[in-house]
Formats: sequence, structure tokens, C-alpha cells
Amino acid sequence: MIIVSACLCGVNCKYDGGNNLDERVLKLLKEGKAIPVCPEQLGGQETPRAPHEIVNGNGSDVLAGKARILGPEGDDDVTSEFLKGAYETLKIAEAIGADTAILKARSPSCGTGKIYDGTFSGTKRPGNGVATELLLSRGIKVFTEENFDEVIDIVATKMMKTCISDGDTKEEIK
Ligand code: SF4
Repeated sequence: MIIVSACLCGVNCKYDGGNNLDERVLKLLKEGKAIPVCPEQLGGQETPRAPHEIVNGNGSDVLAGKARILGPEGDDDVTSEFLKGAYETLKIAEAIGADTAILKARSPSCGTGKIYDGTFSGTKRPGNGVATELLLSRGIKVFTEENFDEVIDIVATKMMKTCISDGDTKEEIK
């Protein structure tokens, strides 16, 4: 089982009340291979909500208490909500034994490798979102919808091993 960003499954949990539907991720959910999570909603934030970005840092800095998560006006500090959401996401991942995640690219919660840089200009900076950083620190591999092909190979291999150990036949994953 893997965890996936709920917005990639078409859940309207994005800050503007919309979603980031990716049919390939939704297919994993429908096949019972994925559990959807939204760290920002799990942290108690409403939907729709104002956009927020990590200012002067990345998810690692937020976890270390060195950066804050603010709105476009430089106020509206939601750092504690993001942290709560990250830890709730981790709790779910550990509860279902997930060792892999597909989370939305560039989000201050879910982004991997690159995130928005805190200027609300669409500019990116290196780093992970807060939830991603926490999952990675606990040994969970995190991918985005943009490298879906890599993760689907991992999921397929895992499912195949499960089927073989169950004495079942291989099944089509993709
Ligand atoms: Fe999607 Fe993650 Fe943002 Fe929730 S926190 S809307 S799952 S990118």
C-alpha cells in the first residue's frame, strides 16, 4: 500500500477548493493500492484557504524550527498547522505500513526536490515540502506525479512479490 496526495485523486482539497486530478494516481486508489491524504487538511486547515509558502527555507528548515510558512502578505503564520498535518500524514503512513508515497510536486507540504520559494511568484527553490521531508526522514520513499513511471515500477514489483508469496498469479498493474 502506498499513500498519495488526495488532490491527485480528484479530491477538492487544494487551497482554492479545486484539485490536481491525475488519472494514473486515481487508478491506484480505485484498485485498492493507495490511501489518499491531504496534509494541509489533516493539519486542521479549511478548504478553500489562502495560499501559503515556506519563507526563507524548505521543509527541512521548518521541521528544524528555522523557517516559517506564511501567506502572500508575510503574515498569517500557519507553520504549526503544516507541522501537525505532516505528523498526521506520517501516522497514517506508518499505520498502513506504507514505504512509498506519490505526493503533489512543488507544494509546501507535498513537494519533492523543488518547492515554491516563498515569493508567491511561481519561482522554485531546491527542497522538499514539510510532509515529504518528514516521510523521507522516516525512510519512506517519496515520488511526485511527474516521475510516476518510476514509482509504478516499484509498486508493480511489490505487488508481484505479494502475489507470488500468496501463491497467486501475477496481475497486471499498469
Ligand atoms: Fe494536495 Fe498536498 Fe496540497 Fe493537500 S497539501 S492539496 S494533498 S498538495
